[in-house]
Parts: sequence; C-alpha cells; structure tokens
Amino acid sequence: MTSPITDYLEAVLRDCRDSDGGEVLTGNRILSEADPDVFSVAVVTVEGTVYCAGDVDSSFSIQSISKALTYALALADRGLDAVHRKIDVEPSGDAFNEISLERDTGRPRNALINAGAIAAHSLVEGRDVEHRVDRILALHSAFVGRDLAIDDDVFDAEMESSDRNLALAHMLASVKVLECDAHEVVTGYARQCSIDVTTPDLAMLAATMANGGVHPESGDRVATSAVVRQVLSTMTTCGMYDGTGDWIANVGIPAKSGVSGAIIGVLPGQLGIAVHSPRLDDRGNSVRGVEVFERLSRDMDLHMMDIA
Ligand code: GLU
Repeated sequence: MTSPITDYLEAVLRDCRDSDGGEVLTGNRILSEADPDVFSVAVVTVEGTVYCAGDVDSSFSIQSISKALTYALALADRGLDAVHRKIDVEPSGDAFNEISLERDTGRPRNALINAGAIAAHSLVEGRDVEHRVDRILALHSAFVGRDLAIDDDVFDAEMESSDRNLALAHMLASVKVLECDAHEVVTGYARQCSIDVTTPDLAMLAATMANGGVHPESGDRVATSAVVRQVLSTMTTCGMYDGTGDWIANVGIPAKSGVSGAIIGVLPGQLGIAVHSPRLDDRGNSVRGVEVFERLSRDMDLHMMDIA
C-alpha cells in the first residue's frame, strides 16, 4: 500500500541512486559477490507502523550490527559493572579491527569494535559455542519479531578470513579479558555476524531499541530500558567506525553500521530506521546509506540536537 511517506522514501532512493562511489567489501569471499546496486530503506515507528522502499526482500548478513545486541545480552547476563570491568565505553578513533586496548588493563575501548565485540561475545552466558550463539540468535529474533537464521556460506567465508579476529582474541586472552578459548569465541562471533536479515528486519530491530526494549508490534519486553540505554549510548559515540564524529555532527542519530552495507539508526521514543546498499566508503560505512540518513535527518529534522 502506498502512502505519502512511502512515496517520499522512494524519491529519496531515486535521488541517492546516482551516487555510486565506494567499493563492495573485498575481504570476504561471499560479501564481495554482493550485487552493488541493491538499495533499500525502511522506517518503523514505535507504534509499529512500517514504511519501506527499494529492494526490501533482498537479504544480507547482519555483520557488525550484531555487536549491538550481543553487547545487550552480555549486559543483561552479567550486569553493567561486570561488563564494564572487561569492556570500556570510549570511542577508539581507530578502524574497527584495530588492536584498541586500554594500556594498563587491556580492556577493549568499546563493544562495537571487533576487540570489544569478541569480548562481549565471550561474556554471553552459555554452556558452549552453540548455546551462546543460540541465545544471541534468539535475542536478534526477539528484537525483529521473526525467527532469523544464520547463513552458513557467509559463516564459512568469515572463518576463511578470520586470522585477524583470532589474533585479537588471543591478545584478549593474554591479558585475561577473555576467559574462554579464543578459537571458540571467534567461531561464535563469526556466526553472529552471519545472521541473515532484510532491511525491514533491521528497521524493526532498531524500532524495538527506540521503544526502550519493547517490540512495537507484539508489546513483548525483550530487553530492559537500562540495557538499551547503555547500548544506544555506545552507538552514539562509537557506532559508525572511525567516522562516528562526522556522523553525529551531520546526521545526529545513534547508529550502527556493518560491512555488508547496512546501517541502523535509532531515535529513542520515535523511530527505527535501516538502509542497505553494499558499496562502502574507506571507513567501512555504506556510501548511499550515509547519504540517505543525511537526507532523512535534514528533511524530517531528526538530528537529536535539533530543538523542535
Ligand atoms: N565479520 C566482520 C569482522 O569481524 C564484521 C565486521 C563489520 O561489519 O564491521 O571482520
């Protein structure tokens, strides 16, 4: 069903479609084969109204966006203080896969870079890798409101290019941030990155965050508001790799991006937004995705520092 908002979203995609800068990720065998032209946007209100445009049925792996909810689960399982003792909340200013650890403690700078995400994965309670991954997948499904699955081809490709993440995990084990087997944690982390989603799924996930952890359609509480607040605070300062400062100044929406070309944005109390387009800028953020968000923020006065 078409509406003025859907028409508007289609117009935004049309305007941004010409921008074909950036490159699809090359470091992963499956991701590098992504169609560079798929393009979609979805917006979900905290009341559960969904608006979308573009290639909304095309699916892709969630990648780094899974870091937000894995952090949420670690916080729910262990509590804020215990997680903070292992993972800091400072922006690193470095690339996502840098060895950004605090000098004295070895704590990763935040949960949204790989070092911190690997540590957060290890803090999720579970008997073994399988159990931890099942719990992480279940939380993603609860935030989205449908049963998600892992793309095994993406997972295999992740494991083929996991040397750097293994190095990070061993480094974390050497400073006792990681208390379990480094290889197991990287396997679990690669599985969480391989969760298959669509843009409307991600917008619903973002809307559940915007709604303080209550799913907009079912009304089910899937996370506490304290956990969501902590995750959104980290997304505000660290969610867009080393481009987070520019992003917050220009777009002004707590966000998280991933190397498959998706970006989620969360406006607390209002909206969840997701965009997908696989070509990335040199910081790893979707080129068209950033443009769409800049446009939405400007047209609808969504910048969190704007005074209504
Ligand atoms: N699987 C990717 C990695 O850890 C995720 C990176 C990302 O989306 O930033 O290398």
